[in-house]
Amino acid sequence: MKRIALFPGSFDPITKGHESIVLRALSLFDRIYVAIGINEQKKSFFPLKTRQHWIENVFSDYPQVEVITYTGLTVDLCKKLDIGFIIRGLRTSADFEFERSIGQMNKKMLPDVETVFLLTTPEYTALNSYIVREIIRNGGDASAFMPDGIDMSSVIKGTNQ
Ligand code: ADP
Repeated sequence: MKRIALFPGSFDPITKGHESIVLRALSLFDRIYVAIGINEQKKSFFPLKTRQHWIENVFSDYPQVEVITYTGLTVDLCKKLDIGFIIRGLRTSADFEFERSIGQMNKKMLPDVETVFLLTTPEYTALNSYIVREIIRNGGDASAFMPDGIDMSSVIKGTNQ
């Protein structure tokens, strides 16, 4: 049976931390869906299409990685796509507490799906999308924190919104 995994998040924007989790998960799974969750209550910084396009570019050399978008419950998406594993990255103990409750609730709702946690590599522990957004919002250069293959020209010109 194929091992199909889902890596859900907002990816607003994708960072080197996210990229590292997906690359490390490649040896564990046959197929990985990177799934951008759409939260209608919360406005994102980057448009959905931009976030999707960037992630597609980052993993263009990996046919086993597919980028999708979704609304609603992650467990419903798992049922729809026959997903057996949810991948999450763990940076800090705060991440752990947050992820534990979500993981346990998801397990209750969909017992067949296992959440798999990958510890962040030390160099990316402090990295999150919020910090990257703040750097960009204030006109700084965030390229060191974002994967290669992201075209920031529209952002620099301020035409991303
Ligand atoms: P963020 O928490 O940066 O806003 P997301 O909500 O998109 O990112 O998170 C999606 C997943 O990626 C979560 O499991 C989160 O813990 C993980 N993740 C985010 N940044 C990192 C990082 N630097 N290292 C490892 N995992 C990360």
